[in-house]
Amino acid sequence: MLILPFALLISVTWSFEGGSAGRVEPVGEGHVRIGAQGQKDQDGRNRQANWYSFRVDGARPGQPVTIDLVDLPGEYNYQPNRGAVNAETPAVWSEDGRSWRHVEDFTYDAGEPKMTLRITPRGRRFWVAHTPPYTNRHLEGLWKDARRAFRRTEIGRSVEGRPLWLWTTGTGAKTIWLMFRQHSWETGSSWVGEGAVRELLRNAALRSAYTWKILPMADPDGVARGGVRFNRHGFDLNRNWDVNGVAKMPEITAQRQAILAAGGGALFLSLHNTETAEYLEGPPVTEPAVRELAGRFYEALVARTSFAPTRPLSFAGPVAAGRMTVIHGLTRERAWPAFLMEQRISRQPKYGRRPLVEDRLRFGGELVKVMSEVLQ
Ligand SMILES: [Zn+2]
Repeated sequence: MLILPFALLISVTWSFEGGSAGRVEPVGEGHVRIGAQGQKDQDGRNRQANWYSFRVDGARPGQPVTIDLVDLPGEYNYQPNRGAVNAETPAVWSEDGRSWRHVEDFTYDAGEPKMTLRITPRGRRFWVAHTPPYTNRHLEGLWKDARRAFRRTEIGRSVEGRPLWLWTTGTGAKTIWLMFRQHSWETGSSWVGEGAVRELLRNAALRSAYTWKILPMADPDGVARGGVRFNRHGFDLNRNWDVNGVAKMPEITAQRQAILAAGGGALFLSLHNTETAEYLEGPPVTEPAVRELAGRFYEALVARTSFAPTRPLSFAGPVAAGRMTVIHGLTRERAWPAFLMEQRISRQPKYGRRPLVEDRLRFGGELVKVMSEVLQ
């Protein structure tokens, strides 16, 4: 009987939509070191390295593969950090590229810093990502269902020429806006968006009570190439709402025009993800009616959804030129009240675990019901 040695045949691939990795170095049999590619802004600052999405082939079924994730440090709002990938945020993995769970066997070395994942696949192939991927392909899949109740309008094109869509449904006099994926790594927000759309498809009462306008994919280029935070030219699409840079950020221009053309709305919400913070931020205005609406919105989210804030309701403060978020920008245009929600990817007390796709989908349904209730 001839026993052949197992060759070191692990390969790492990210040449698919949303895929991203940096340098790949074999360490030993079944052990590979993979850098996060990271992304910097238009000035070469604010490097953020919290998106990776790759496939591993050539694993030995039933044998562990060790992956060291490195090249994690970065900057946020010009402050250096050790990176958003840390002990609170282990990777997710999948054996079919569709259903995702967290890697349970991992260690984080804050010194380098480095996250080491140990994954034992049943087959020869598996996928690894920071959070469960949601790409333009997922959105097209959702559209196949959504089109029976929504219409979609192309409001512009991204830097790379991808269509920027506005999805609309409902017949109510008041308009509620939802915006997703200003930052391409924040896939959890898109799963919430899918949950919101599916609830609106199910729930005719919500559609007759309001007009719903959804900007489902603010940075389709970034999502396609596995970007982190900035558009093709390095601009943060949730800053720069006070900058007139049509050529460099056609995404912001298209969204602003679409919102203003519709006369703003009764309630606007842009959804985001962070590593460990969860909160609702209201517009930078002091009108009592807006403050009162914000308070009711926040209390309803806490009471009737799985939103689990890590801080009280807050309102956006003043910002330097070129740093306006969408809620600052819409407030300036008086197309408010505009809100921003951050949801964590780390362990969340209402779930008792790190959020999974099913949690995001359910929250999306809860969210649209609460938004309609607070306007009644
Ligand atoms: Zn964001």
